[in-house]
Formats: sequence, C-alpha cells, structure tokens
Amino acid sequence: MAAQVHLYDTTLRDGMQGEGMSLSAGEKLRVVHALDELGVALIEAGFPSSNPKEEELFRLLAGETLEQAEIAAFGMTRRRDAAAADDPALALLADCFAPVCTLVGKTWRLHLEKVTRVDPEENLRMIADTVAFLCTNGKRVIYDAEHFFDGYRDDDAYALGCLRAALDAGAENVTLCDTNGSSLPDEVAEATARVVDELGALGQIGIHAHDDAGCGVANSLAAVAAGAHLVQGTVNGYGERCGNANLVSILPNLQLKRGFDCVPAERIGRLTETSHLVDEICNVTPGPNAPYVGKNAFAHKGGLHVAGVVSDARTFEHVDPAAVGNDRTLLISELSGRGTVQARAKRTGVALESAGASRVVDEVKRLEHEGYQFEAADGSFDLLIRKETGDYEPLFRLESFRVIVEKHEDGKVGTEATIKIWVEGQRYVRTAEGNGPVHALDRALRDAIGQTYPHLRDIELVNFKVRILDERKGTGAVTRVLLDASDGTDTWGTIGVSENVIEASWEALVDSLEAGMLPARAEHRRARVPERTGK
Ligand SMILES: [Zn+2]
Repeated sequence: MAAQVHLYDTTLRDGMQGEGMSLSAGEKLRVVHALDELGVALIEAGFPSSNPKEEELFRLLAGETLEQAEIAAFGMTRRRDAAAADDPALALLADCFAPVCTLVGKTWRLHLEKVTRVDPEENLRMIADTVAFLCTNGKRVIYDAEHFFDGYRDDDAYALGCLRAALDAGAENVTLCDTNGSSLPDEVAEATARVVDELGALGQIGIHAHDDAGCGVANSLAAVAAGAHLVQGTVNGYGERCGNANLVSILPNLQLKRGFDCVPAERIGRLTETSHLVDEICNVTPGPNAPYVGKNAFAHKGGLHVAGVVSDARTFEHVDPAAVGNDRTLLISELSGRGTVQARAKRTGVALESAGASRVVDEVKRLEHEGYQFEAADGSFDLLIRKETGDYEPLFRLESFRVIVEKHEDGKVGTEATIKIWVEGQRYVRTAEGNGPVHALDRALRDAIGQTYPHLRDIELVNFKVRILDERKGTGAVTRVLLDASDGTDTWGTIGVSENVIEASWEALVDSLEAGMLPARAEHRRARVPERTGK
C-alpha cells in the first residue's frame, strides 16, 4: 500500500489573509464541502471566537456531516504567566466540536526577544501547558511551529526543543512553518530530515510553506521527501503577500508523480472543478496558466505539438489531463462529461438519458462561450437540466420591468422598481423601493408572486458578485452576476450574463427563486417546518 500524506487545508484561515479575501459563513461552508468531496483529510475552519461570523460558521459546521474530512479549529498557545485552564480563548477551543485543534506558537528566539518578550523557558512551558490542556479535553493537537526554519537557522537546539515540548505534552503532529516563506528546498529538506530523525518516533511531522521565494510547492515536496506526512496549504495558493503553498499543485505532484495516497484515487479527478469552484466562491478569475487546472495547462498551440499529442499524448503532456479533471480542448468545465451531468441530474431527481446529457453538455459549452460558468451556479445548472428534460415550469411570465435610480441634491440615492408579470393567468403590477436595483427588483417580484408561492418567503439572497468579463468581445464588456440564495439550510448559486448589469442580475435573480422552488429543495424545506415553528 502506498504511503499516506495528509492534506491539511487552511484556505479558510490563512488563505483569508490574502488581499480582498472575505467569505461569509455560508460561503465557507460551501468551500468545506468542496474540499470534503475532493477528499482532503483536514480542513482548518479558523478560530471559534465569539464574533458572530465565526460563531455562525462553527454552529453550521457542527450540524454538517462530512464524508471524509475532519475539521480543525485554530488557536494560539496560552498567555504568559497564566494557566492554560484560565485562558478564555483556550476554553472556547476546548469546548468547540472540532476533534482537532491546531495551535500556533513561537520557536524562534529572535521573536521571543524582539516581539513578544517572553522568556525562552516560559515559552516552552506555554507550549507544553497548552497542548496538555487540550489533550486532556479530548482534542487531537497539531502544533504549528511558527517561523520554524528561521528559528532553526538561528538556534537549532532551541527550535527542536519547542517541537519536543509539544510532542512530549501529547501533540500528535508538529508542523514546521516557513512563515516568512524565506527558505529554499535544500534548507527545508535538511531541517525536516533532522526533525524526522530526532523526533519522528514521537509523532508525525508536517510542513506549512509560503510562496515568498516562489518555492511554496517545492518546499512542501522537499519536506515530504524528507519524511513529513502532513502538508498544509491553501486552494489555488491564496494567502497573504505571495500566498501559501498551493495544494492544487501539491496534490497531483504527490499523488500522480510520487505515488503517495493523499486523496482517494477516484477523487483526484475533481481537482480542476474544486479549484474553479473555490475561485468562483471567492470571486477570483481562475488563473488560465495555473499548473494542472488552468485552461491553458494542456492547451497545445504549435502544429507539431498537436500532431504529437494526437499520435501519442505522452509526447507532449506531463500527465493525462483527465486525471485531474482537466481537458486538452480549449473549453474546460466540470460539466464537459456526460457522466457528470447525469450524476447531477439524478441528485436533483431527474432522469436524463445519455442523448439528453449530450445536449446539456453542448448547451453548457455554448453558454460558457458567452461568459457563463456553472461551477458556482448549481441552481442555474439544475434549471438547465430541467429545461432539457421538459420538467421545467416557469414561476411566472414577465410582461416588463423598469428600474429607476434617482440621485438627490442632498446626495441620497433612491431606487424604485416596477414589474408587470403574469402568474397563473393573473396579471400583477407591483412597485417596490430598495437600496439598489437588484434589491428593489427582488422585493417587487416577491411581492407579486409571494401570494401564489408563499414558500418564497423562506428564500433569502445572501450574496451578490459582479465581474466584468472582457474576454474576446470586441463590442463592450460583458457583465457576469453570481447570486447566492439560501433557505437557511441549503445555499445555491445562480448566474446571469449580459452586457447590461441589471439584465444579468434579473436573470440570476429569477433563477435563484425558481431553483429554490424545485421539488427537491421545497420538500427539504417542508420537512423542516415543524422544527422551525416550535419555539
Ligand atoms: Zn501561514
């Protein structure tokens, strides 16, 4: 059996330090599920603090069932001169549902002297105490040795002493952090080999690299070659400064090229889809040149290359694109396969024969060319399948809508929307105000059809993302709108694309309500009703 390397994702904590990164609790939950489906072993959710956003995330996570992944909560070693048991932040960690706690602590004397002014001996006690406290409370502990490689270059005996303190106190893993991203692969290899040699019998060794020197992935691989069995990183290498080590590159390198078991073999084909989905959730355009998952990663231009690839792909391709869910054609999508479409249809309760699935695939390709992306728009995709099978019934027929934005002398901006629609043979004309065009349209539309479909009241718009696509269109840019809607249990994404931002928003808005009214979701909601009405 192949040796195991555990992937530890820190997108939701360290990755969120990157510029412009901010996710709601609901979006974080979608990332967790995507990583779980990929087969990642550990997902760090952040610090279970009492701030409302973190509290909501941990509350949501506590109620989720994951197939594969375990959740890790993140915290720090106790304060100096105070027992771990008296530290309120550690009490939160001990009380939270997560089975694994990751603790970050110092290992570099320079930091102790210049930054925290903690006595080196007290630092060792802080590490041991905190680890022991959490172990006593039934947690499995990972110790993240901050600035380990800098500390090791400065005073190797002390840096190793910090690791030993954590392992002796019961930590199951010590992870060597290249917090500044300053190290090079040969340094990482040498230091990791020494740690494995001296402490490997006491616990597992991990690596947490950053990409400041462009070596985040290389350093992670070097550490694994030297005996590390856990790799921390983020999806697509998100993170502060130059980013964290990119798990999307590390995974296929370890699994396909080095034969390690990181995720179940049948899951690695989800890599491209997962990478793009997380990009879409974070409102980042997927990098076309990203290794393994970029749309150019296997796109061959030169005539000689193309001929070579056609006769034998090995002549110009380092791995089979299908192994990571990518494609050598220009259009890539998780949906490029009929099998995927059929699986999705089945999940939403629709029988789709293979000719129908092929038509959906063709339609997806056509829409992608116009600027649609269905990775994060599962709600719109469900509707697309139903349009193909004839199971689709529009909620209403639009006669017209109009939006007025009025700016006043005092600087205030007002928005008003009027819609005229037909529902079951009845004409409704409704006007509503809102704090923006989409809000006003949403209110007017719900007012008009809420009478006929009271379930719509449970559905809320939770996110609105706009991106301007300037690709390949000579005439003016195209706007893509992604909406997330939620009924408190499920969250689904929908998409609209148009040269006009209001039209794109309208399309996504209508999809979000129609997708929310699909039988599978509506039944799910009905099943919850008694529980919700009971006080
Ligand atoms: Zn970090």
